[in-house]
Amino acid sequence: MFSQAMNDQYDIGIAGGGLAGLALSIQLARMGHAVVLFEKEEYPFHRVCGEYISNESRGFLTELGLDPDSLGVSSISTLQLSDKNGKLLQQELPLGGFGISRYKLDAQLAKLAKETGVSLFEKSKVNDIVFTGNEFVIDTGKERCTVKIAVSSFGKRSNLDIKWKRPFASAKSNKLNNYIGVKYHIQGDFPKNIISLHLFNNGYCGLAKVEGDIYNLCYLTTADNLQQCGGDIGKMESTILSRNPHLKQLFEQGRKCDEKPVTISQISFDKKQQVENHILMVGDAAGMITPLCGNGMSMALHASKLAATEIHQFLSGSISREVTERNYRLAWDKQFAARLRMGRRIQSLFGNQRVLSALMNIGRRLPFIISYLVKKTHGKPF
Ligand SMILES: Cc1cc2nc3c(=O)[nH]c(=O)nc-3n(C[C@H](O)[C@H](O)[C@H](O)COP(=O)(O)OP(=O)(O)OC[C@H]3O[C@@H](n4cnc5c(N)ncnc54)[C@H](O)[C@@H]3O)c2cc1C
Repeated sequence: MFSQAMNDQYDIGIAGGGLAGLALSIQLARMGHAVVLFEKEEYPFHRVCGEYISNESRGFLTELGLDPDSLGVSSISTLQLSDKNGKLLQQELPLGGFGISRYKLDAQLAKLAKETGVSLFEKSKVNDIVFTGNEFVIDTGKERCTVKIAVSSFGKRSNLDIKWKRPFASAKSNKLNNYIGVKYHIQGDFPKNIISLHLFNNGYCGLAKVEGDIYNLCYLTTADNLQQCGGDIGKMESTILSRNPHLKQLFEQGRKCDEKPVTISQISFDKKQQVENHILMVGDAAGMITPLCGNGMSMALHASKLAATEIHQFLSGSISREVTERNYRLAWDKQFAARLRMGRRIQSLFGNQRVLSALMNIGRRLPFIISYLVKKTHGKPF
């Protein structure tokens, strides 16, 4: 049985309803365009993310119709870093930010998208998007529709990356790929306004308060670390991660809200193209910054604003498809290319604990270096 979207014609079709896709859909629907958005999961749902959002996004979210304060977010002003032996460094964050679970944030945005008139199909996984010369055909197996312009905002890695043979998806193992991510929500007596990042061998683990009395504990490490522990996450936490005394304490004192963590694998920070087969890539699908920088969500939201501006002009007939694609690429590069380069450099250091510890020692004595790195990996309010 095909659902109502079959044979429908929309102005714009979006694959993936994370922050990038949802924010884009709302902006374009407000501008008067017919928007269809496909999300393979059903809201609300948990996903791997540190759930700390830089304040550079606060104004944008409010304009979108989602005032962060009304969602009960927690305010975060300080960064705490520890090296793998637990030696601490603490520093005020230049802009600061807030914590909110993706479970709540994405569901609220999805609700707003529906209220704004977006045709939002959940449990609909896009199988392909084909450019026919003048329009695109989007196929989910359940739905099939044609759109004038198509966007992929399907995140770090999707079935379509494999299908379209995007180079990062088949790259050999290197310093920038083959990472895994693990997330828990926990409760306990932890500082409320601090985002902590604790390093361990080949990885780092963050702790930040989200809404209510819940904290997000999320880490990124190499697939190799997990293999060394026979694929046993608990064993990896009690051995490799717990060598950092702060993490040992966190795992011992934190009460887990769910029995099992949410996990993802095959995370890659390799370069990606921002336009593929005339499809605009937005959010992590266009390029992923290392989570250590805590800026991926703001980048996804900001990129949705850049894409909305160009798509609106295209749909209004002011610019051609070719110019739309070129403008988007240029705008994306101008905003994010330098941040991603810095993020990749920082991520590459993770194989070298000696350099990392030396950097942290310098940071303890010269705190402006940490502020400099934070500024280099973050943007301004948009
Ligand atoms: C371990 C870790 C910690 C992080 N911590 C932070 C942090 O603290 N702060 C921060 O700012 N950023 C953080 N990030 C980065 C942040 O999570 C991402 O940058 C952000 O979620 C990107 O948003 P997006 O919309 O591009 O992708 P996503 O939020 O991943 O959304 C993509 C959506 O597409 C859907 N989808 C995929 N394929 C299909 C398909 N074929 N059809 C339909 N739907 C599809 C998925 O189900 C998903 O809902 C972290 C990332 C990791 C891995």
